[in-house]
Amino acid sequence: MPNPIRILSDHLINQIAAGEVVERPASVVKELIENSLDADCARLEIDVERGGIKRLRVRDDGRGIPRDQLALALARHATSKLVDLADLEAVQTLGFRGEALPSIAAVSRLTLTSRARSDLDAADDSAWEIAVTPDGRLDGPRPAAHPPGTSVEVRDLFFNTPARRKFLRTEQTEFEHIDQVVRRLALARPDVAFELRHNGRLVHQLPATDGRPGSRRARLDRLLGAGFAEQSLEIDVSALDLRLHGWVRRPAFARSQPDQQFFYVNGRLIRDRLITHAIRQAFSDFLHQARHPGYVLFLELPPHLVDVNVHPSKHEVRFRESRQVHDFIRHALKRRLAQGILGGGPLDRP
Ligand code: ADP
Ligand code: MG
Repeated sequence: MPNPIRILSDHLINQIAAGEVVERPASVVKELIENSLDADCARLEIDVERGGIKRLRVRDDGRGIPRDQLALALARHATSKLVDLADLEAVQTLGFRGEALPSIAAVSRLTLTSRARSDLDAADDSAWEIAVTPDGRLDGPRPAAHPPGTSVEVRDLFFNTPARRKFLRTEQTEFEHIDQVVRRLALARPDVAFELRHNGRLVHQLPATDGRPGSRRARLDRLLGAGFAEQSLEIDVSALDLRLHGWVRRPAFARSQPDQQFFYVNGRLIRDRLITHAIRQAFSDFLHQARHPGYVLFLELPPHLVDVNVHPSKHEVRFRESRQVHDFIRHALKRRLAQGILGGGPLDRP
């Protein structure tokens, strides 16, 4: 006789969903930082112990979560970022699925501490903390000490899912993945200050850019090595609804590894074969086959022209007019490269 059909418990559903969202400590850091950015923070502190396996904490000075919504923030499919399908088609935030916090909480010991900015919730300007017990129940909210903003602390990742725990690599490797995640997000958001610590050691301290032209370049150099900005061509091209801006390394400074390829669509880092292909083609006349272009590029387009809801990790997107996007990128880059090499210095624009 087969087993009877049963409805899974929420806790088990969350643990299964965690398989898609939470691959390793770095995926937790990504989700938490994205939440902080969605909450309009100006600064972020990321504190990691032992590769994030033992403990990690992301702290922001964003909008905060009022006391009566703390439990909801941890509930499945609960989000403040979407109301209806039209919102999904025009999504501006990094998150929208309402899955990250409950998924992370189902495979770790999670504590959420928050104080809503008093301009948003004048009735409640104290801080509150809520924790999730190992069997998935909520503990709190109880009063806590916290400046306006939110901290999420995640301890003992995968303590209750040993099969996943086995896939973790060394603490150093896990930390390197976290470092990558922080770099990618810090490249996209120079207006936000980032601080990253590992085992108490300060790894990055990136002040927010202040509008001076040099400060944007300073962040690039901090994250990609001194000289990156100097060795790159700045680009900013618009056509119809599309805008491509950012930096491409001059072909003479191409890399032996594809380790400096950052492409963002509406602020979200993505991997996309179509885009890689367009860039490759733009470089084809200027670059030896065995070398890899370096770039930090941002494509902006109206949200309804791109579907970001392809996979829970949101690394993939689908363009409505993929041919148009491909050709726009290829032409824009090709022209900029030709100009940068044959004439003009780094400052002239196409
Ligand atoms: P999503 O980001 O897809 O909405 P999450 O599970 O990541 O789902 O977060 C659930 C909700 O909790 C968010 O919609 C948001 O309202 C709130 N939240 C999470 N993190 C923060 C934060 N750092 N600051 C303010 N609100 C937050
Ligand atoms: Mg989120």
